[in-house]
This record gives sequence, C-alpha cells and structure tokens, in this order.
Amino acid sequence: MVGSKEKSKEKRDKRLQEISLLRTIPYSDHQRWWTSETVAVVTGANRGIGFEMVRQLAGHGLTVILTSRDENVGVEAAKILQEGGFNVDFHRLDILDSSSIQEFCKWIKEKYGLIDVLINNAGVNYNVGSDNSVEFSHMVISTNYYGTKNIIKAMIPLMRHASQGARIVNVTSRLGRLKGRHSKLENEAVRAKLMDVDSLTEEIVDKTVSEFLKQVEEETWESGGWPHSFTDYSVSKMAVNAYTRVLARELSERPEGEKIYANCFCPGWVKTAMTGYAGNISAEDGADTGVWLALLPDQAITGKFFAERREINF
Ligand code: NDP
Repeated sequence: MVGSKEKSKEKRDKRLQEISLLRTIPYSDHQRWWTSETVAVVTGANRGIGFEMVRQLAGHGLTVILTSRDENVGVEAAKILQEGGFNVDFHRLDILDSSSIQEFCKWIKEKYGLIDVLINNAGVNYNVGSDNSVEFSHMVISTNYYGTKNIIKAMIPLMRHASQGARIVNVTSRLGRLKGRHSKLENEAVRAKLMDVDSLTEEIVDKTVSEFLKQVEEETWESGGWPHSFTDYSVSKMAVNAYTRVLARELSERPEGEKIYANCFCPGWVKTAMTGYAGNISAEDGADTGVWLALLPDQAITGKFFAERREINF
C-alpha cells in the first residue's frame, strides 16, 4: 500500500514537473507588462532562493537590484550574474538596520527614481532538523517580521504608479499556517484573531509577536499553544502572513493607477544554507512561485498566500 508520505511526494513531484514545463513557455507580448526599465528589488539575495529570484527576474528582462547585508559577498554574487549578461545591479541592504534602509532608499531615489517590484526574501532561522530552541527568538522575529515590515514601509513611497500596479512579494512559509493538517498552532485565541482578516490590524500582529516574546522571556511559551517545532521561525512567518493581508487591504484603498498588490508564498522545503541543504527541491524550483507572482500579467490579485503557483489557505 502506498503511504501518505509517498502519495504527497508523488503529488509534489508531479506538480513540480508541471511547473518546470510551464516555465518553458515564454510570456507573450500581451502578458509582458514589464520592460528593461522595470526595476525589481530582492532582499537577502546574495545566495539561496533570493539569488535565484534575481537570476530568474533578470532572465525575464527586468533590471534587478540584488541586495545583501554583506557588501563583499553581494558584489561577488551580482558579478556572477553581470558576467552572465544579466541586467543586475547591487546595493548593500541590512533590513535590521534603519540607517542601511534609509541609505538604500536614497540610492534608489537617486539612481532609479522608482521601483516596480519588491521581493522580501531576507530571513533567518536557527533551528535545523528536529532541534527546537527559542534562544534566538528575538533575532528571528526582528529580522523576519519587523525587518520585512520596515523595508516595506520605507519602499512604498518609492513604488511606481502604473496601470498594472506595483508588486510586493513576501517569502514566508507553510510553517506559519493557521489552519489545516499542517498547522502546528494550538492557541485558539491567536488563531481566531489572525484569521479574522476584516478586523486584523498591524497592532494585533505586533501584539501577538510581543506576547510570544514575553512568554519566551518568562519561560512560559511551552504552554502558550505555539508550534512546538521551528517555534520562533513559525511565529515570525505567521506574523508576516498576517501582515501581508493587512497591508493588501490597506493598499487596496489606493486609487486606480496607484495600486500596489501584496502577496506571500511558501517556496517549499528548499536545499539552501537555511535548511543545511537538506530540502527536497532546488533553489531554482523554490524561487519559481515568487517570480511568477511578481510578474503576474494584468490581474489584481492581492492579500493571498501561494505555493507551487497555486493559492493555499493561510
Ligand atoms: P538562506 O539562508 O540561503 O538565505 C537567507 C538570506 O537572507 C541570506 O542572503 C541572508 O544573508 C539574508 N539575510 C538574513 N538576515 C538579513 C538581514 N538582516 N538583512 C538582509 N539580509 C539578511 O536561506 P533561503 O534562501 O532558504 O531563505 C530565503 C527565504 O526563504 C527566507 O525568508 C526563508 O525564511 C524562506 N524560506 C525558506 C525555506 C527553505 O526551505 N529554504 C522554506 C520556507 C521559507 P547572509 O548570507 O548575510 O546571512
């Protein structure tokens, strides 16, 4: 008998095969809303999924800004793509450092004026395999949630007003899901609050992560109903998912011609430094849904969660 693990592996492999076929179909002139003047920014792009998203977006003909918190590593990564003929530029960006964010925005304004796509990929995780430690919770929440939020807020005024809308894509994870078979969240009150998209606010999301960090400090988190594996990382991604919905709702109030669409996606379990190269898919496959979302032709999809080019539940 085929077990459920084998079945889901079969399903995943089949979907990945479909997607790699889809990737071979070029965008038609009608779908292609972008030109070589279209500017995309990818955070944490010196390696892994971020680097791949830069490569793929530049391959589609956009101008892509590869950012990295380490200048030398970032310059080297950009050089690889530049030497391959891709239109890639580099600037340093540490999403944890407000002066680095300011300096980056100033540079964008001076060199490019405006941007069209922002991909928030930078992130950290300190739990590998089945280890679970909350020792680095502060760093994980600060980077993955607050860092992402801060760069989004800084970049919104620099996003181009255009009929096809500007796009924000947040790289999150199924580990941050609130519902369903894979959700590890047991705290019903948190689930109810984060699920209620109409009354969800940024303040509610902030309060949720503050409560988690307080419980970590007081060493009471284990009975708090938080996920018991990849705990801090899951909470951080849950927060980014929720914030994506709040952001999308707020941005949808902008007038026609000034829209910004915000979505998030899970890349899957990817062979990168973050997983100790233990994932089951390549960075190339992991990057796919993010690139697809950033380039969606003529549709106003916003506030949704995706994986393998399909919408999934939060
Ligand atoms: P990597 O560790 O290879 O890449 C993470 C990137 O984020 C690195 O470039 C890292 O820089 C950068 N980064 C970390 N902190 C900051 C910061 N403060 N400012 C700017 N950049 C920073 O991992 P992945 O490529 O796997 O991860 C990319 C994204 O995908 C992350 O958001 C991750 O959570 C998410 N993800 C990954 C999954 C996987 O299976 N790999 C699954 C689900 C989600 P540096 O090199 O200097 O450390």
